[in-house]
Amino acid sequence: MKIIRSVSQMQKICLALKKTRKIAVVPTMGALHDGHLSLVKIAQKKADVVIVTIFVNPTQFGKNEDLAKYPHDEKGDLQKLGKLKVDYVFMPKSWDMYPKNFQTVVSVEKVSRGLCGSSRPGHFEGVATVVLKLLQITQSDFAIFGKKDFQQLKVIERLVSDLNIPVKIVAAPIVREEDGLALSSRNRYLSDDERKLALFLSRGLKRVQEACRGQKITAKRMRQIFLDQKPKNNKIKIDYVECLDSTTFKPLQKYLRGQTLVAVAAWVGKTRLIDNRVF
Ligand code: AMP
Repeated sequence: MKIIRSVSQMQKICLALKKTRKIAVVPTMGALHDGHLSLVKIAQKKADVVIVTIFVNPTQFGKNEDLAKYPHDEKGDLQKLGKLKVDYVFMPKSWDMYPKNFQTVVSVEKVSRGLCGSSRPGHFEGVATVVLKLLQITQSDFAIFGKKDFQQLKVIERLVSDLNIPVKIVAAPIVREEDGLALSSRNRYLSDDERKLALFLSRGLKRVQEACRGQKITAKRMRQIFLDQKPKNNKIKIDYVECLDSTTFKPLQKYLRGQTLVAVAAWVGKTRLIDNRVF
């Protein structure tokens, strides 16, 4: 496993590799867990060479967000990736990704609005810009993203389609703990009590799906079913509960079989968590 820290070196390697091999990239912000590793395994099935990028991208964090305390675990990350026999780990520095006088911002308009786009202004511009850069640097044929960040996936699919980027975006299922909590690097911020409270997200989504079985439930009702099982605890603050068409990403009036996306975000203590279900 080769560790590359320089942007120009990574691009040089990839331009040479591309002549004979298929490349897959798995963009991450590190503090890797089994969700990230599931993406790596998908990448290995798709391509000859797998590159995992680890970069806590400053431009996708708002002023009052957790950039400064975002978890880092370089040693643990490299161990996990080494075990999986990843070919390259790309860990660029911020100054190399965003040199002095950097001034380009990629904005994907409609799908970036609402949900996380409303609560995190500028977030998806940061994501779209860094993903486009990573695709250019790695020259990837495949890029793997988790459905855990459903809106992000939609933004990237739009970006790739709109800008004719020759890469196939592969969407990976959400990996959960046994009790249902979606794996997230931010779960490590949670205290034991908060970890228990956080379960209401996955539990609520499951309840909504169960309630929809064989019934044309309205989006308003789905939202209410989710909220009804929220524990009464002032550590929990709902950011949003949205029902959308998972294909068009437009608001949904009623349950639509196979295409109903219920996406939620909530604060549990000082940690903002997201989760979703498509059914
Ligand atoms: P992050 O490091 O949080 O930026 O995530 C990097 C990639 O891993 C993104 O494509 C996420 O959607 C994906 N990811 C994060 N958590 C999970 C999970 N629990 N299951 C599947 N994919 C995930």
